Order: sequence, then structure tokens, then C-alpha cells
Amino acid sequence: MDMQTSLLDRLFETGLLIDTGIEGLYGRSGSFEEVITRFEALIDEVGGADGAEAIRFPPGMNRAYFEGSGYMKSFPQLAGTVHSFCGNELDHMHLLQCMEAGDDWTKGQEATDIVLTPAACYPLYPTVAKRGALPTEGGLFDLQSYCFRHEPSNDPARMQLFRMREYVRMGTPEQVMAFRNDWMERGKALMARVELPVEIDVANDPFFGRAGRMMKNNQRDQNLKFELLIPITSTAKPTACMSFNYHQDHFGKSWDISTADGEVAHTACVGFGLERIALALFQHHGLDVGEWPARVRATLGY
Ligand code: 5GP
Ligand code: ZN
Repeated sequence: MDMQTSLLDRLFETGLLIDTGIEGLYGRSGSFEEVITRFEALIDEVGGADGAEAIRFPPGMNRAYFEGSGYMKSFPQLAGTVHSFCGNELDHMHLLQCMEAGDDWTKGQEATDIVLTPAACYPLYPTVAKRGALPTEGGLFDLQSYCFRHEPSNDPARMQLFRMREYVRMGTPEQVMAFRNDWMERGKALMARVELPVEIDVANDPFFGRAGRMMKNNQRDQNLKFELLIPITSTAKPTACMSFNYHQDHFGKSWDISTADGEVAHTACVGFGLERIALALFQHHGLDVGEWPARVRATLGY
């Protein structure tokens, strides 16, 4: 049995994750959720004093905002749209007949104005743009959202619906680069406190198609994105548990966000993959939180 299936089976057996019959879509036990709550409190302890504005968006976003973000250019294969039945009574009868016959009843579903959020920060940029120019000190935001990515897998570290905690910085290139560098150091220090082995590497996002290959090279060559990797289901291929993204002026230009000086704002975000971090803790310290090393338990306030 491979490492991925074996960890997933053990998580199901202990009830930490609950099988829904769909790969990457799981229920979480109270104990699993508590790890995430406590880890988020640790994030607050490290980042709380920076005075970020906290905003929580639901896991679905305005379709127009999604379209403006450019996500479909890079990752069309990962996006999930929300569709609904919009027909009349006759259409409804056909729908029920179709379901009864075991045929594809989803063909008549129509797109709504909501798209599932692919990354916690996507709804933020147009929201901030509407406020007008940034103040001199720029902007700093604290976000958390369930995110959707259509990538079914039996690797428990690759979920279709998972939570991302993010800090997002907007301002001058200097302001956002300083933020990103700061968080790379903070991220390493934070993981050391919960005794998880990490390495930092440049990221390799799954950009789609031939045009995507160029974006992939660009991301790598310009060091636009780093990841903090922790072995979870493979020692040879550790899993990205945090990412540190420099978007340059991409979102600033897309949404017309400007600095106090009237320049196009640069943006950066740091993301914590909350389920992945919980899984890393369970994989390295055991599935029973009561058995975790005393120092790790103390850091998490158990
Ligand atoms: P990114 O936008 O960099 O791809 O994702 C941000 C963070 O979300 C990643 O560093 C990772 O920790 C988490 N993440 C990305 N994809 C998945 C996934 O498929 N499953 C889970 N559980 N977390 C993910
Ligand atoms: Zn982000």
C-alpha cells in the first residue's frame, strides 16, 4: 500500500477525517479541528501585533471578481463554478425524469453569479480597490477561507475543499517584499516550534497548457513564489504547507489599486494550508494528540 493511502486509511480509522465517498472531500473530527484552531491561535501570536485588518469571506466569490482575476488563464482545470436549476415546471419534470432514468441531469444547470473561491485572497483585491488609494503605510489583511480546487486525489494532503489562512500586503514593492521576506523567516521559526522539519524551495504551480509553461518558467526565474515544504505522504516529494507569493503589480493593475503616491500597488500574500499543517503534525507526532511531544503540546496550548 502506498504512503498516501495508508495515511488516509489511518485517518479514516481513527475518525480524524470522515469519508464522504469523494476523494479530497472529507469531514473533520473535533480533534482535527482543534489542532487547526490552536495552530491558528499560534499564527495570531506571531502575526497579531502587525495590526492586519481581519476579513472573512465565504467560500464562494462574485463571478465577475473571479473573471477579472485571470485565474482561468492559468488554472482552468482547478476552478469550480456554482450552477443551479433555473427552469420552469416543465423543465423540472424533465429533470426528475432524467434523474429517475439515471441520465445526466446536470446538463440543464445554469451558471450562477458565484464561483468557488480558489484562494483566500482572490475576493480581497477588488474589495480594497473600491475603497480608493491605499494609505501611506499600505494595506495589511488577515484572511481565512475554505478554498476549492478540482483535483481529486487519494493523497490526504491534496484536498478539493480545504482552508487557507492568509496575510496579504499591498503597497510599494519595498513594503511587500519586506513583508514576504519577514514571513519566510517567521514561517520557518513557527514550524520549528511545533517540531516539524521544513525546507524552502521555489514553487512549481500546475499552470495549464503550453502558455502555462511560460508562466511556470517566469514564476520560477523571477522567484515570484516560494513554498515551505514538509514531508507528509512522501519523503521524496514533501508537501507545500505554506506559500509566499509576490504578485508584482498583477492585482494592482487588474483592479486599479494604487499607492498613496498614485503608483500601481504591488501585492504579496503568505498562505498557510491549514489541513496540510494539521496532517503534518499528525504524521510526524502521531494520530493521538495526547501522545505528542510535550514541547509541541505546550506551544499549541494543550
Ligand atoms: P497556493 O495558492 O500556494 O497553491 O496554496 C496556498 C496553500 O494552500 C499551499 O501552500 C498549501 O498549503 C495549501 N494548499 C494548496 N493546495 C492544497 C490542496 O490541494 N489541499 C490542501 N489541503 N491544501 C492545499
Ligand atoms: Zn493569496
